[in-house]
Amino acid sequence: MLEKELYEALKIVQLACEVTSRVQFELTKNNIVTKSDSSPVTISDLASQFLIFNHIHKHFPNDAFIGEEDTSEETKTFLNDVLTLVDQYTSEEYTVEELGEVINLGNSKGSVNGVNKRHWVLDPIDGTKGFIRGDQFAICLSLLNEQGEVILGIIGCPNLTLTNYYKPEVHGVHKYDYKKLDSECGSDGYIFYSKAQEHEVFFGPSIKFEFPDESTFKNDFLNVITKEDNKVDLNNLVTLEGFEKGHSSHDLQNDIKDKFNIKNALHLDSQVKYCLLALNLGNLYLRLPTTLKFQEKIWDHAAGFSLLKSLDYNHTDSLEAKTVNFYDGGRYFLTKGVIASNLSKELHNEIVSYSKELIMKKFE
Ligand code: AMP
Ligand code: MG
Repeated sequence: MLEKELYEALKIVQLACEVTSRVQFELTKNNIVTKSDSSPVTISDLASQFLIFNHIHKHFPNDAFIGEEDTSEETKTFLNDVLTLVDQYTSEEYTVEELGEVINLGNSKGSVNGVNKRHWVLDPIDGTKGFIRGDQFAICLSLLNEQGEVILGIIGCPNLTLTNYYKPEVHGVHKYDYKKLDSECGSDGYIFYSKAQEHEVFFGPSIKFEFPDESTFKNDFLNVITKEDNKVDLNNLVTLEGFEKGHSSHDLQNDIKDKFNIKNALHLDSQVKYCLLALNLGNLYLRLPTTLKFQEKIWDHAAGFSLLKSLDYNHTDSLEAKTVNFYDGGRYFLTKGVIASNLSKELHNEIVSYSKELIMKKFE
């Protein structure tokens, strides 16, 4: 099931990894991006959304799209710059109008309005701030069925080096030798994926991986993770938190770590956090709101949710231990914050109820 979807999605996310990592390399090498000029980032954001939607739309013309980007605010000159980047990676020629049409396919209001359509949900560069800093970012593509359930998730992490996040004294013995895996990737990072209804997460090098022919491609990517591979050591728990203090409440997250005696934390941008949770390089993803006005977007979580669902991990609101709903809110979640973990349901729920207490106190 979903073999064709997976094949085409992996192939195009891999290309987007190549485009964006090249741009990131050039940006950080030449120190191009300043606060007043984020245009190279927006160009690669739009190029990534175009390449992915164009490819998927060709292969699955009946499906709908939700994407973070649209072109309504952009000038023709700017869109021409996007085309120049896109042209380097496609054999076909496109006009600015065609470029806009494809990017804006992503304006669907979501399953709730999209009567009986499957939806591809995309964050073409998740973790823009990390992208600019030369840190983590991810290309996150997922597929929701007609009922708004996540059925496929792919996360390309072109700047991920796993040895940077593995400490033997904290994590203990793991199934994979990350040094060896990193050396096979070079500096090209990883792609993670899962079919949400199946109980395995796969990962492999993001760019160097030679893409097999469709006829020989089976669901056997290079490395596999199952729930049984991950042993949780309650004395050495690790949280996964955003780097940006404006995106989640680091203060409240510190209170949670104090209360549950968690001494280790990893701070990084984007849905790469979900990939590290899937690998058991972290146990508890904390995203407590900095303001109750912010609504989480589904493209920031749907692909990561697929990985966690495959491993039967917890993924809930930060106020209530209920599973996040990808259907009712259209492009948004109706919930506040996110807490995800590979802990027991009981411990997870205890953490969520303490999180609620903290949030209520802060925003009362
Ligand atoms: P992260 O890399 O985990 O910090 O998350 C990046 C995502 O945070 C971006 O894609 C934004 O959609 C989202 N974001 C922006 N502002 C906020 C906010 N105030 N609270 C939570 N998330 C935010
Ligand atoms: Mg994002």
